[in-house]
Amino acid sequence: MTRAVIVGAGIAGLATALRLAQDGWDTLVVERSPTRRSGGYLVNLLGAGFDAAEQLGLVPALSPRALGLFTTVLVRADGRPKLTVPAAVAEAALGPRTMTVFRADLETALFEAARDNTEIRFGTTVSAIHQDADRVEIKLSDGATEEADLLVGADGVHSATRTAMFGPDHRVDLPYVVAAFPLAHPVAAVPESAATTFIGPGRTAAVVNLGPHRSSAFFTYRCDDPTRDMERGPVEALRTAFGDLAAGVPEALRHLETDPGSAYFDRVSQVRVPRWSTGRTVLLGDAAWCVTLFAGHGAALALAGADQLGSALRRHDDIPSALAEWETGLRPEVVKRQALARRGMYQYAPPSRFHVWMNDVTIRAITLPGIRGLVRRGIERQNR
Ligand SMILES: Cc1cc2nc3c(=O)[nH]c(=O)nc-3n(C[C@H](O)[C@H](O)[C@H](O)COP(=O)(O)OP(=O)(O)OC[C@H]3O[C@@H](n4cnc5c(N)ncnc54)[C@H](O)[C@@H]3O)c2cc1C
Repeated sequence: MTRAVIVGAGIAGLATALRLAQDGWDTLVVERSPTRRSGGYLVNLLGAGFDAAEQLGLVPALSPRALGLFTTVLVRADGRPKLTVPAAVAEAALGPRTMTVFRADLETALFEAARDNTEIRFGTTVSAIHQDADRVEIKLSDGATEEADLLVGADGVHSATRTAMFGPDHRVDLPYVVAAFPLAHPVAAVPESAATTFIGPGRTAAVVNLGPHRSSAFFTYRCDDPTRDMERGPVEALRTAFGDLAAGVPEALRHLETDPGSAYFDRVSQVRVPRWSTGRTVLLGDAAWCVTLFAGHGAALALAGADQLGSALRRHDDIPSALAEWETGLRPEVVKRQALARRGMYQYAPPSRFHVWMNDVTIRAITLPGIRGLVRRGIERQNR
């Protein structure tokens, strides 16, 4: 039986474990965190991401958790509504083969589908990797040594596997910070089954209120010194960047104070590695190609990458040939998404008041029925 060791139990790692186990591989996942990392905000599965969710058999578990339609209210800093985007607009723009779920629900669906056929070791990481033409030997932090046919580095944007195999210089840090965390209780200032979103120069704050354990907050902002904010931690950094806002933000920040560890809080970086594999070691997900939240599709690409890797390995007995074919097929999509990140930066962190105004004009336009079809065709073209 072929054996794979997978580093990281995020979306990419769990999807890879699930897909390879479905194809009869013996799989071990090692995750640095002592427990599951289930937080995060909303993820859209469309295009190749939706296809992969279907292929992996996740749709029945995800459908009941899909968020369906909700209204988004664009607000001013003092909380007054500026513009309401009805749920039907998002539906018309995205089309039918789309699903929006909390990242936590995607992680749970993957974990539950993978765990029966995969060993998952928490609180464990990799301390050394040696490979030759026939095997890869992986020394783990718990003292064990594992032999495998394939090592998958799915350990995220700060991947230690990438540094070990390709060197340290493949992360392009951008002057932005992102934070997302679940809210156990709905936030009173946000209408039920709705989200409020503030977009101002250099920053976005969004709070979604879909009921108990179905609510979440998301923040991103331009920051000239992300290292300083990482040292400050999410509570202080977000208070400084968003402490002046209303419309659910104060409640969300108070919630964060009670559980700062629940936040996904990181600098925004892209990853650009000239090759995703060497020998029997391959990078997958953010470790290989992080496109950033500004491009979206991070989770969708992780699912698609895992599923397509499984298909390539099924077609080839020779692992390096499978890895090369897989990369050739997937890289154009990743390059396209990375290029789209610039547009997202202008949407989430507009450089000036003029850009905020331009965004508002665009959003107002897509609420007009005649324009929705055009937007939808544009999105479909992007996802082809
Ligand atoms: C808790 C959490 C919340 C997130 N929320 C958002 C969000 O709201 N918006 C957004 O745009 N993106 C978010 N992301 C990032 C998003 O999940 C990814 O961009 C995308 O899903 C691709 O996933 P990935 O599995 O490649 O990376 P990740 O989801 O980052 O998963 C990587 C996994 O590897 C583990 N790991 C890291 N280093 C090691 C190591 N040395 N050894 C073993 N394990 C290691 C990490 O603990 C993590 O579980 C979040 C990530 C996490 C972990």
